Amino acid sequence: MKSQQTKDTKRWKVPKGYICVQDDLCKGCGFCIDFCPRDVLASAQHFNVKGYHPPELVDPEDCIMCRFCELVCPDFAIWTEQPEGEDEHEEEDD
Ligand code: SF4
Ligand code: SF4
Repeated sequence: MKSQQTKDTKRWKVPKGYICVQDDLCKGCGFCIDFCPRDVLASAQHFNVKGYHPPELVDPEDCIMCRFCELVCPDFAIWTEQPEGEDEHEEEDD
């Protein structure tokens, strides 16, 4: 997915790329946190402009880039980014 970054986007480095969060798009549903298979997301202490706690990365090194957080977010407030040239799938031989 192409970047939807703004100057307010938070971006955490993880082993296979980045996890990005746009705080003010978040409605605090917690889906991303609940669905993360590695429990690397948690509800942040601060509030966003809507009065919700957005997610933050608490254990970035454990992220496996499964993209569940991005896929379950109803508001496109969290997404993954991978370095240019890297495909999301492992290389396969033809
Ligand atoms: S990509 Fe997967 S492991 Fe990483 S934060 Fe999102 S749900 Fe968790
Ligand atoms: S799934 Fe999206 S809207 Fe829900 S808490 Fe996570 S970032 Fe916020």
